[in-house]
Amino acid sequence: MERERRRLIVTGVVQGVGFRPFVYRIAHAHGLAGSVCNRGDAGVEIEIEGDPQEIEGFLTDLREKHPPLARIGAISVEEIPPTGEAGFRIVPSKDGAGSAGAIPPDIAICDECIADIFGDTRYRGYWATSCTNCGPRFTVIESLPYDRPRTSMRDFPMCADCRAEYTDPLDRRYHAQTIACPRCGPRLTFDGTDDDPIACAAAALKSGEIVAIKGIGGTHIACDATNADAVTELRARLGRPGQPFALMATEEILPRIAEVTEEEWALLRSPRRPIVVLRQRPGALPEQVAPGLHTVGVMLPYSGLHHLLFAQLETPLVMTSANRPGSPML
Ligand SMILES: [Zn+2]
Ligand SMILES: [Zn+2]
Repeated sequence: MERERRRLIVTGVVQGVGFRPFVYRIAHAHGLAGSVCNRGDAGVEIEIEGDPQEIEGFLTDLREKHPPLARIGAISVEEIPPTGEAGFRIVPSKDGAGSAGAIPPDIAICDECIADIFGDTRYRGYWATSCTNCGPRFTVIESLPYDRPRTSMRDFPMCADCRAEYTDPLDRRYHAQTIACPRCGPRLTFDGTDDDPIACAAAALKSGEIVAIKGIGGTHIACDATNADAVTELRARLGRPGQPFALMATEEILPRIAEVTEEEWALLRSPRRPIVVLRQRPGALPEQVAPGLHTVGVMLPYSGLHHLLFAQLETPLVMTSANRPGSPML
């Protein structure tokens, strides 16, 4: 059988978005041998070998079926001599000149991971659940190529169960650099106690206290947005007398406090979970949330921690960044 081999360089946003597992799957589907690796310049390098028609099919799939979060800039193709290699592998990253330009943003937790957290799985109740389709990226990646040793997850070696999923090409967490579970991943605590941290935080928020919530992607200062005294106290402590506060609310809570159009829902639900400025429902929020304004900035929960917290709450939260302007992210 005639065999050909190609070397491809793919540029764009192709690291940290499930691109290598995707390449692995389509190479398998086309019966091609070869390898894929991340490059230090933020691109991905692929070598494929096999039937020329299957190579064409692979290239079509690469362009048309790539993961939704990937952005392909350009694909260069070079013909190289076949080596007779069998099988397709994900190989260690090649170091090279780093470029911060193509680090993907943090991505809101996906529906499957939410189902894992609330279902009967080993991730049940785990605040930092993620997969190749979701989770922190920008806030954990220290340099490219995107591999666990270059992320802030390096201090949490995978347990045997996580390792098994990480190395299973058919698993959603195949090569998910942020994979972690209750056994091996970072743990939450509340105020240094051993009590259930989510339950403690929810109880404190319900009773009008101010709570600092440190997740993987930075720290928020939170309080019950419907409690005027709590919001006033938060303003006093932060020294921000008039600046409007951003809120976080679930899809169930949000319609009670703001009017939301179809376009605004689409924006709220997009993977980066932006803060969207909405029209307040008159009288739904205390004046102190956004003094003098009829609008309010709201985002939907975007991490497992947020979903676990809101499972015990019925009100929106003020969620303001703990970072001072111009200072490093906490
Ligand atoms: Zn996920
Ligand atoms: Zn684990």
